[in-house]
Amino acid sequence: MAKYIFITGGVVSSLGKGVAAAGCGALLQSRGYSVHARKFDPYLNIDPGTMSPIQHGEVYVTNDGHETDLDLGYYERFLGAKLSRNDSVSGGRIYWDVLNAERRGEYLGGTVQMIPHVSNKIKEYISAPVDTDFVVCEIGGTVGDIEGKIFLESIRQFANDVGRRNVMFIHLTLAPYLEKSGELKTKPTQMSVRSLLENGIQADMLIVRTPRMLTASERDKIGMFCNLPAKSVISGIDVDNIYKIPLAYEAQHVFDIIADHFGLPHARGDMTRFERIEKYLSADIPTVTIGVVGKYFDVPDAYKSLNEALFHAGVQNNVHVKIKKINAEDFSADKCSDVNGILVPGGFGERGVDGKIAAATFARENQVPYMGICLGMQVAVIDFARNVLGITDANSTEFKKDCTPVIGIIADCDSENYGGTLRLGAYPCEITPDTLAHKIYGTTQISERHRHRYEMDISLEQKFADAGMIISGRSPDGRLPEMVELKNHPFFVAGQFHPEFQSSPYTGHPMFNAFIAAAKASK
Ligand code: GLN
Repeated sequence: MAKYIFITGGVVSSLGKGVAAAGCGALLQSRGYSVHARKFDPYLNIDPGTMSPIQHGEVYVTNDGHETDLDLGYYERFLGAKLSRNDSVSGGRIYWDVLNAERRGEYLGGTVQMIPHVSNKIKEYISAPVDTDFVVCEIGGTVGDIEGKIFLESIRQFANDVGRRNVMFIHLTLAPYLEKSGELKTKPTQMSVRSLLENGIQADMLIVRTPRMLTASERDKIGMFCNLPAKSVISGIDVDNIYKIPLAYEAQHVFDIIADHFGLPHARGDMTRFERIEKYLSADIPTVTIGVVGKYFDVPDAYKSLNEALFHAGVQNNVHVKIKKINAEDFSADKCSDVNGILVPGGFGERGVDGKIAAATFARENQVPYMGICLGMQVAVIDFARNVLGITDANSTEFKKDCTPVIGIIADCDSENYGGTLRLGAYPCEITPDTLAHKIYGTTQISERHRHRYEMDISLEQKFADAGMIISGRSPDGRLPEMVELKNHPFFVAGQFHPEFQSSPYTGHPMFNAFIAAAKASK
């Protein structure tokens, strides 16, 4: 059976539980243990994907097409874990399951209660079989939240069911610094741990977010009040880059604390993948500027995975990547005068689309490296149809019904194979040999994640190819164009999918790596 590490948080929200959990998982991996991740969000929305991105940042998509919150991305990136629909579960989904079971008569007319029916359902999701040594399991929200109570109750029961040696509780808190008295205050942490204890959960380790390292006496004091050894009180100091977190934990012997809890041998970890990033961050190396032509810049984290993927590709290419946010709604060519590459990311709706088309035109005409993601591929196709093929009213039916549709909904693809309305999740793509796409991926079979409704019309293929834009990736049935590229251009490539969801901080992603390499070369 896998061992479980539960991460809870207290005092305030947004302490970075996801990153802390992923950081602990990374320490285990660095000793050769395999790690899976799960996240439980107590809120009542059934599906985090339907929550407003204005509140929640980017919608992250898993291989199996689950639209989820961006925390799942941290786990996939940090741990290389492949998560699914059942690894991101909200309170709403739990109640939905329970109430539907009740409607189907599965409880045989018994009284349906929070305990055991809801708690059992939560435990069912927690304990769904995995083939890893560990599961790091984050409980969203803050201790004391009303909707979180039943989740705390469930993990308490779970620990009791499987044995305390198989479950570790890590609690994240905050120790605010009071300028006036020059003191770090530990009381909120004490209160938070006490409130956890009221739910029957004794924290085995505390990660205390603080502006500076805790002193020995502060750790003693916290340990004494919170009922755990001072050595298990860790300073979660602010870092300027999340990939420094595993190194910060390593320096405080977090692995040893985890190992002691589970009765595992102490072992030295191989931290080179993080040391490499740390070295890169402070390296005196050139910077490339990438113009990202988008429209969700006012929403924090709307382009989380994209920014990450660009950063990862910078690490691979040994250049710093500066992102220049170019608002598509007031795009003008002069805003691109200082960029080494242009990226048009995904997007929905007509607002700003003209600026995105103009960005594709600019990159095409001026031989500027271009990468298009989803909508970024569609606008490249529209630009080419209008300005190279002379189809002046070429458009996507998403933006104009009365047009020559080069992008549209493929009616009979709206079937079992292609999901309900959005094409969601991983789909295979076949790459044409001897294309830029082939050079980028080094293989002809890839799988990338999708989240879109519209597709390029494949019947245009010959016409486009004759004029210099080729389809270099397509669905295995040959009906859906998945990648396009320009023949007479140093680097112009676009995908109907979202490669950013599969980028790794340790290896980057082939498409982003190649794009940043091209931007570096063009500088
Ligand atoms: N709006 C476009 C579509 O639905 C593109 C979506 C996207 O960029 N993710 O097809």
